[in-house]
Amino acid sequence: MEPIGFIRTPFPEKFGIPRQPGLAPSAVGNLTLEPQFQKEGVFDGLEEADFLWLVFYFHQQKGEWKPKIRPPRAGGNHKRGVFATRSPNRPNPIGLSVVKLLSVDRKTNTLQLGGVDLLDGTPILDVKPYVPYSDCHPEADFQFAHKPPDPVSVVWTEEALQNVPQELKQLADEVLCWAPRPAYQNDEREYGTTLRNFNLRWRVVEGKVQVLSSSVVAQGPGST
Ligand code: SAH
Repeated sequence: MEPIGFIRTPFPEKFGIPRQPGLAPSAVGNLTLEPQFQKEGVFDGLEEADFLWLVFYFHQQKGEWKPKIRPPRAGGNHKRGVFATRSPNRPNPIGLSVVKLLSVDRKTNTLQLGGVDLLDGTPILDVKPYVPYSDCHPEADFQFAHKPPDPVSVVWTEEALQNVPQELKQLADEVLCWAPRPAYQNDEREYGTTLRNFNLRWRVVEGKVQVLSSSVVAQGPGST
């Protein structure tokens, strides 16, 4: 298999990336087809879908897979069988995400996708329309995780707000409201999360995420 393209996302590092798609709707990814797939008509009809499946390669997954893993959702305590999780650490490190199709640009062979949970530069193996009559099961349950955890408020210090453009703040609010740290670290230690080219320092205090400072970093432009 050859990647059809490498998605550009606002997430240059794994720490902080939402654990599933759709949790941060402002996380926009741009997928440009590789030259050999830039053929006339490949996107024809795609706009008729408003959501797409992305099939991708977890290219930054390191280390051997293990039969049982500790999902972050379980606070790192409880182990589950690998096939009972959506962990990147699996025998064939293939990921699956439903994302919103925002636009199709035929001039540049680029899809603009909303709510991505992928690292910047992730190789995309395939794109398929999401077919609600078949793919959507409103009665479905997953006892381990009925719904997302409750989001928390995100408060910014004056200092952290300086130099942060509005759309970056919006993205950061959507990412940090999930307090994306290992669940067993329930103290007030500081973390750093990089979104696009901004590094944000934050911690959890009294059930709220407090953004302490922001700085511009040199690495990766991400997408938007
Ligand atoms: N929705 C997908 C991914 C769930 S796991 C699925 O169910 O298959 C989501 C986590 O994968 C993110 O929090 C991030 O830490 C990790 N991730 C995203 N892109 C990755 C990549 N290219 N390589 C390794 N890990 C990645």
